[in-house]
Amino acid sequence: MDGFSKQQTISIKERDNVIQHQQYTIAEIKSQSEGLQEQIRTLEFQLDQVRVFNLKMEKQVKVSSTKEEEWREEVARLQKIEAQIRQENEQLREKLKEMIHATEGVNVQFLEMKKNVEAKREHFAQLSQELEEARNLYAVLMTQKKQLQSELGVMVKQRNEAIDNNRHLETTLLKKEREINDLLGKVNDTIKEYEGKLTAKEEQMWAISEKLNEEASKKEVDMSAVEREFLIEMERKIDAQARAHAEEMEDLVKTARLRENQVLEMTKKLNDMETQQYEPRMERLRAIEKDFKSRMEEYLLAEESLETALICPKCLQFVQHPQTLTPCGHTFCRDCVAQMKAEHYDRVHCQECPEVTVQDVFRNEPLESLTERFTRRKSLMISMMSWIKVLRVFVPGSQVGAVR
Ligand SMILES: [Zn+2]
Ligand SMILES: [Zn+2]
Repeated sequence: MDGFSKQQTISIKERDNVIQHQQYTIAEIKSQSEGLQEQIRTLEFQLDQVRVFNLKMEKQVKVSSTKEEEWREEVARLQKIEAQIRQENEQLREKLKEMIHATEGVNVQFLEMKKNVEAKREHFAQLSQELEEARNLYAVLMTQKKQLQSELGVMVKQRNEAIDNNRHLETTLLKKEREINDLLGKVNDTIKEYEGKLTAKEEQMWAISEKLNEEASKKEVDMSAVEREFLIEMERKIDAQARAHAEEMEDLVKTARLRENQVLEMTKKLNDMETQQYEPRMERLRAIEKDFKSRMEEYLLAEESLETALICPKCLQFVQHPQTLTPCGHTFCRDCVAQMKAEHYDRVHCQECPEVTVQDVFRNEPLESLTERFTRRKSLMISMMSWIKVLRVFVPGSQVGAVR
């Protein structure tokens, strides 16, 4: 081989080396490129993920911005509430101060209430005492009533006996009167009869005397002494008969007068008997009745004064289910209190003392039982009064006014 060829061979060898080297490099680059492509794919994948994440984040950001708005509003609202609470706190503090101040007033009112309760207790004690007195009076009256009743019974019996006696005497009197009248009639008849006879005799005598006068004037001379004597005798006989008749008549009149006097005397005796026995008893009965009436009136007055204490000032009836207001102490019916409450916007207001504020209302049990007992007793009293009125009917000629 020549130099050139040598050189050529070397350069080919070098070139081969270079090519080989270049081939290595290319392979290396290729593998590097593949690695890079792999990396690019990975990066692209990661980029996609980032994009998705970004989108999510953007969404979240949007949501959170609206939430932030809401929070801001909420915070503003809470701040407002806080301000209100602060203001209310301030007001409460003020009120607390007022309340502390008012407590002192309440203490004063409580003391007043205590005093009122004490006064009411005294009033109850007084009422109880009055009730006791009324009860005692009632017992006394009842015994008096019983006594009066028995006395009245005896008197009624005696009166009936007296009436029977009177009747008997009256019938006897009437009988006697009839007898006397009959007798007087007979006497009158006899008198009339005799008067008639006398008149007839007189007429006869007149006729005879006229005849005699005529005959005397005509035949005075002829009249014998015998005839004259006969006439005189006749005249004398007639006179005697007339005198006897007159005497008989006088006797009859005397007898009639005697009978009349007897009747008058009997009547007088009868009247005396009545005034001596019947009248004094009636007088005594009337006096007892008068005394009873005055006692009864006293008792009724006491009863009335007790009654006014148990009257409700609103309905003016006996207090029903009594309720007492404090501090004024006035008592009303349960229904009346409810009515007063309704009339004053659901606040109890005492109609007796409008200037006092009512603190409390309580059920007054002692007064309730007292009222119940009193009501029962009143109905008992009314029935007793009507009974006494019935009793009075049996007392005749009574001038004492009726018991109420
Ligand atoms: Zn009152
Ligand atoms: Zn009432």
